[in-house]
Amino acid sequence: AKRDGSRARIEVHDGGLTDDEVDLLQLETDLRRALDGDELRLFYQPIVSLADETLLGYEALIRWQHPTRGLLPPGAFLDAAENNRLTSRLGAWVLHQACNDAAGWPAGLRVHVNVSARHLAEPGFSDLVAAALDGSGLPPERLELEITESTALFAAEATLQAVSEVTERGVTLALDDFGTGYSAITALHRLPIHTVKIDRSFVADVVTQPSTAALVQGLLQLGRGMGLQVIAEGIEDLDQADWLRRHGCAMAQGYAFGRPAPLPSRTGARTAEALVERAAEEAAAVLE
Ligand code: C2E
Ligand code: MG
Ligand code: MG
Ligand code: MG
Repeated sequence: AKRDGSRARIEVHDGGLTDDEVDLLQLETDLRRALDGDELRLFYQPIVSLADETLLGYEALIRWQHPTRGLLPPGAFLDAAENNRLTSRLGAWVLHQACNDAAGWPAGLRVHVNVSARHLAEPGFSDLVAAALDGSGLPPERLELEITESTALFAAEATLQAVSEVTERGVTLALDDFGTGYSAITALHRLPIHTVKIDRSFVADVVTQPSTAALVQGLLQLGRGMGLQVIAEGIEDLDQADWLRRHGCAMAQGYAFGRPAPLPSRTGARTAEALVERAAEEAAAVLE
């Protein structure tokens, strides 16, 4: 179905395509143009330490500045990219852009990049990561790739190979949306996971629902026991932050600490300073 209702429908009279198929084709065509042109953006959301309120890094989140539909979130177009050859082009753009941006940040700050399952399994993925690191000068230790449990579930040989190649370089791996898939334990067992990100659907209920609280405590304990870093996603208020801190969660991300936002400026040494300053202000405002 049409996602925003504003776009004129293309009339197809041969009966060959459904409206949804026409929408998808149109979206793919538009996305190709977006990649060729300059319509994709990376927004960055702060990841903070819950213990001492410091900024640890940012997650890169893709947006599409669509000429007529406005700023689109990934949910509006990533599926269209997944269904065809655009996946690797889009993934390559994200990796290069994120590494270039992060190379200009203060040395302590890391960048998290979401990687699609399909892209990860493609030949040449680890070469792409190497090229993005070498081209930007970003040390591998400052890059964390976020994969979802579903990626791990159907982890093909190609995926395992790519994962071992990038982690051997020093790049780390985060398991995103932890707890929502069917294979959390399998993923932790099979892949060299460094960080787990507790899904925001759990965080949303952690203060109010005892069963969710018990589940999150279990996830935190599992993370601790396995020596993993744990990030709670989607923290929207102070009660949630307090609960997680009290239960030993070290890191957090969510609107409470800062929404995804574009870099203040793409040029000059002031960029990184402005970024850190803004995040510090946002975090302080929330935690005071
Ligand atoms: P994700 O990796 O789990 O990213 C977190 C999502 O939660 C982001 O949505 C972020 O804006 C949102 N979020 C963060 N804090 C809060 C909060 O406090 N409350 C609420 N309600 N939401 C919060 P976004 O940016 O729409 O991205 C959605 C998903 O799209 C991401 O989920 C990720 O799976 C995917 N994605 C985003 N950028 C990329 C990319 O460059 N490449 C790939 N392959 N996937 C991407
Ligand atoms: Mg993510
Ligand atoms: Mg997530
Ligand atoms: Mg998600």
